[in-house]
Amino acid sequence: FLFHSLQAKMSRPVQARRLEGIDKNIWVEFVKLAATYSKVNLGQGFPDFPAPDFLREALTRALGGGNHMLHQYTRAFGHPPLVKVLAQFFEKLLGRELDPMTNVMVTVGAYQALFCCFQALVDEGDEVIIIEPFFDCYEPMVKMAGGTPVFVPLRLNPPKDGKLMSSADWQLDPAELASKFSERTKAIVLNSPNNPLGKVFSRGELGLIAELCVKHDVLCISDEVYEWLVYDGKQHIRIASLQGMWDRTVIIGSAGKTFSATGWKVGWVVGPDRLLQHLRTVHQNSVYHCATIAQEAVAQGFQRELMLYGKPESYFVQLPKELQQKRDWLVQRLDEVGMKPIIPEGTYFLVADISLFKSDVPDVPNSDEPYDSRFAKWMVKNKGLAAIPLSAFYSEAHKNNYTNFIRFCFAKEEATLKAASDILQKWKQEKTS
Ligand code: PMP
Repeated sequence: FLFHSLQAKMSRPVQARRLEGIDKNIWVEFVKLAATYSKVNLGQGFPDFPAPDFLREALTRALGGGNHMLHQYTRAFGHPPLVKVLAQFFEKLLGRELDPMTNVMVTVGAYQALFCCFQALVDEGDEVIIIEPFFDCYEPMVKMAGGTPVFVPLRLNPPKDGKLMSSADWQLDPAELASKFSERTKAIVLNSPNNPLGKVFSRGELGLIAELCVKHDVLCISDEVYEWLVYDGKQHIRIASLQGMWDRTVIIGSAGKTFSATGWKVGWVVGPDRLLQHLRTVHQNSVYHCATIAQEAVAQGFQRELMLYGKPESYFVQLPKELQQKRDWLVQRLDEVGMKPIIPEGTYFLVADISLFKSDVPDVPNSDEPYDSRFAKWMVKNKGLAAIPLSAFYSEAHKNNYTNFIRFCFAKEEATLKAASDILQKWKQEKTS
């Protein structure tokens, strides 16, 4: 009898309805494939070089120093030294006064910052505009909040003169973007510099988005985790600094990306109290708090950067310089083997065209799986090189829009990049011989 009643209970659906349709995740699959097969991993976005000495030293000091309270809880919405220095830093960047207690909140990576935004600001039936291709978690997070994602693509206008493509060749169609705004639109997600393309939105493009947000009274969730990784003298423009946008924008940042320490999972939001007060409610009732000691070390990292702001010794000046060299090196190697790169203006990602390598990887007609996904799986299994298919950054409905591209992460040691290049060179030689 007991056995029967247990079985009856087990047959109840255990999964909450909000998880329907979002339980399959291509990242889980690709991270596992990379762990199993890759000799060289340019897939998931993280540096394989060390975080800067000053940051590691700050953590060591926090850990072994005299202040044993750094091992205990701190203020839930952000360790005071960290919110204070973030406020000071963003005052400089935004040219406005900030209250560290109400205009800044610390989160468990930018990931939790995003989660707080969607949970706090999106209601059942609200629409949220997402620009494709996009960092994949936006879509399930909007859905979990009960909202409906509305996608608008960056459209590719390839250069006609045979030059290499640039991420700037991927552009919003102004009329198409405007057509996505309606009275149901609650928010738009902006990610500049953009993962996966590396696109850095221009002032004109941001102005257009801002104008539409103001006109339709729409919020902007601005994911700026790659804010310091901008190349060729380009400037990262913060949409919150545009006319009418501060009051409706939440800026999201990540110490993981900023200080090359993705495992620390320290992120933040900066914005007006009228929005952040609701994010605090979600944070308070879910995560509550993130590691004090990591926050302390990140605070010290920012204090250093505040002192060196704009100077050549600043990490925020040095890191993009180093990454630009890595980008240029990989761009050349990819171009040489015929895996045409799209030159990114920012981030540490680079998307490349696999068309010339397709003959080695058979297509399966009528398959539901986009070709680039099959290609990336084949490549890691047969060549030991891990990358991520571009289709992973599109919605289900649009995942077959572009299936000839894969994304590489170039925040890697020289030896890693060289090993990747060797694999591609050898592959190309085998093809032609
Ligand atoms: N936003 C974007 C665009 C990202 O690429 C990432 C990390 N890949 C995140 C947010 C999450 O950042 P964190 O590791 O700080 O949670």
